[in-house]
Amino acid sequence: MNGTTHAVFGIAALASAALVTGADPPVYVYPAAIVAAWLPDVDNPRSTLGNGLSKSKNPVLNLLSRPLSWALRTASFVLVRTVGHRTLTHSILGALLFGLPIYLFLGDYPNLSLALVAGYASHVFADALNTRGVPLLWPFGRPFRLLPGGIKSGGAVEVAVALGALMVALYAILQLNPSLRALLGLL
Ligand SMILES: [Zn+2]
Repeated sequence: MNGTTHAVFGIAALASAALVTGADPPVYVYPAAIVAAWLPDVDNPRSTLGNGLSKSKNPVLNLLSRPLSWALRTASFVLVRTVGHRTLTHSILGALLFGLPIYLFLGDYPNLSLALVAGYASHVFADALNTRGVPLLWPFGRPFRLLPGGIKSGGAVEVAVALGALMVALYAILQLNPSLRALLGLL
């Protein structure tokens, strides 16, 4: 699945999780869900985060983002050389390792925590729809697929699935925000 699909899944996951748990996430935690939805692919040097974010035209912004860019590329390099792509970061173990510091340090920020966990989980879920599946029990077991055969990355079906996730996201966001519904004349 490409970066756009994962971003849409991250937003849909956060909005749906908020709807189910009764949370009311502010707008500014949605970008956190998107970043978390990209994070598992940091083990792929060609992914959105794994290539250290594309350089922006603004030199100040470039300078500020350089340490982060460097950290992301290092993490990417280490992961791909040790465990390989779609292994640890796409497993239950990886999700627990990601969730632990959130549980320990972000307890006072429930909306941000929900955004990060929902975003990360949405990535593993989306990849489980894919032909390759995800190694949920890594380092043991075989890749797990949600659909027989799975959806090919980059194909028309992926676009359709992303549009479906977008519908879910819009529905959940409208349910969460009555004022937005009123604005659109849906009340
Ligand atoms: Zn992935």
